[in-house]
Amino acid sequence: MTNGPIFGAMLQEFDGAARILNLEPGIWKILTHPKRQITVSCPVQMDNGEIEVFTGYRVQYNITLGPAKGGIRYHPGVTLDEVTALAAWMTWKCAVAHIPFGGGKGGIICDPTRMSRRELEALTRRYVAEIIDAIGPEKDVPAPDVNTNDQVMAWIMDTYSMHVGHTSTAVVTGKPLELGGSLGRREATGRGVMISARESAKHLGFDISNATVAVQGFGNVGSISAQLIGELGARIVAITDWKGGVYNEKGLDLAMLNDHVRQQKTVAGFSGGTSVTNDELFALDVDILVPAALENQITMANAPSIKAKVVVEGANGPTSPDAHRHLHDRGVFVVPDILANSGGVTTSYFEWVQDRQGYFWTEKEVNDKLEAKMCEAFNAVLQTALKYRVDLRTAAYIVAISRVATVTRMRGMYA
Ligand code: NAD
Repeated sequence: MTNGPIFGAMLQEFDGAARILNLEPGIWKILTHPKRQITVSCPVQMDNGEIEVFTGYRVQYNITLGPAKGGIRYHPGVTLDEVTALAAWMTWKCAVAHIPFGGGKGGIICDPTRMSRRELEALTRRYVAEIIDAIGPEKDVPAPDVNTNDQVMAWIMDTYSMHVGHTSTAVVTGKPLELGGSLGRREATGRGVMISARESAKHLGFDISNATVAVQGFGNVGSISAQLIGELGARIVAITDWKGGVYNEKGLDLAMLNDHVRQQKTVAGFSGGTSVTNDELFALDVDILVPAALENQITMANAPSIKAKVVVEGANGPTSPDAHRHLHDRGVFVVPDILANSGGVTTSYFEWVQDRQGYFWTEKEVNDKLEAKMCEAFNAVLQTALKYRVDLRTAAYIVAISRVATVTRMRGMYA
C-alpha cells in the first residue's frame, strides 16, 4: 500500500468528507485502499542499439461502479505514489460525473522529449503487452494524459487488438476519429473547465464576458480552456507553460499565440505580450485562475498571493490541502479537479458507449450531452456544498463517496 505525499493529500481530502458523512469504518477502509497496483519493466531497444528498461505502472483504485478508467502519463517524475493518487481521484471523478466507471491510472517513467517516435511506439506496445491481462473494455479503459496523445492510444488499441485477435476499439478512449474516437473528445476537458468557470460566475453573480483570466499550462487542457473561456468574451491575460509565460493586460491574441506555440513549442517569447513567471501569474489580479499543468502548483508558498475570485482546477491535484484551506478561508471559490476537469472522462465515457454500440454521434450531440452532464455534476456539488456548509472539494467528495459507498453496500462482501 502506497503512502507517499500525493496519495496522502488525496487521503486528507477523502477523510474530511468521510467524517462529515459518518462513513462506517469498513467501507472507509475499502475506499482508502487501491484494489490493484501493477508494476512492470519494459525493455526497449533504443535507436542507438542499446537496451533501456523503463518502469511502468497501472493502478486500478476502485472498480465498484464499472471498469477502471484513467489516463496514461509519460514523464520522468512518474511515481507509484502519484499514479495511485491519480487513480483514486479518477474513482471520485467518475462518481461525481455520474458515469458507470471506476478509477484507474497509468504511467511510465521516461522522458518522451528525448525519445524518437519509433522508441515511443516500442515502449507503448511493450507496456501494453505487460499489462494486457488487466485491461479491456469491461476491465480497464486507458486514455491520454500528460505527454500521451491519440497516436499513443492508437498504438495501445492496435497492440491489444493483436493480442485478443480482433479489433477492439473500446479498450481505450481518446483515439483518432478514424479509429473509433469521439467528436468533441479533444476539446472535452477544456469545455468542462469552461462550463465550470461559467457556472461559477453565474453562482457568484459576476459577468464572465467581462472577466479576466490567467491559465497555467498550454497543453490540451490549458489551451482549449483558454480558447473556450475566451469565446465567452472573457479576456485571457496570462498563460505560462514549462518554459515561461506571457502577459498582456488587454488580452492575449490566442490565434497568434497558437501559431507561435506550433513553431516554438512554448508560449515563452511570444511577441504579443511581456514575459511572466508562474509565481507572477498566480499573483495577478484576475477574476478566474485556471491551473492546467501539473499537480501541487498552488502551495502555501504562493496561495497567499492569489487574488482571483475563482480557481478552476483544470489539472489534477494542482492545489495542496493547506493552500486549499487557505484559499477557502479567504473566500476564494475553488472548483475542484474532480468536478472541473471531469469533462474529459465524461466524453471518454461517450466514446466508449459509441464504440460499443458501433454508432457515432455528431459533435453537437456530444457537446450537448456533455453540457447536460457537467451542469448536473456542478449543481449536485454546489447543492451539497450549500447543504453541508462546506467547500466545493469536500462537497464533491461527499457526492462521490456516497455514490461509491451505496453501491459497495448493495454489492456486499465477496469472501
Ligand atoms: P499536456 O501535456 O497537453 O500539457 C501540459 C502543459 O503544462 C504544457 O503546456 C506544459 O508546458 C505545461 N507545464 C508543464 N510543467 C509546467 C510548469 N512547471 N509550469 C507551467 N507549465 C507547465 O497535458 P494535459 O493533457 O493538458 O494535462 C494537464 C493537466 O490536466 C494534468 O494534470 C492532467 O492530469 C490533467 N487532465 C487532463 C485531461 C485531458 O483530457 N487531457 C483530463 C483531465 C485532467
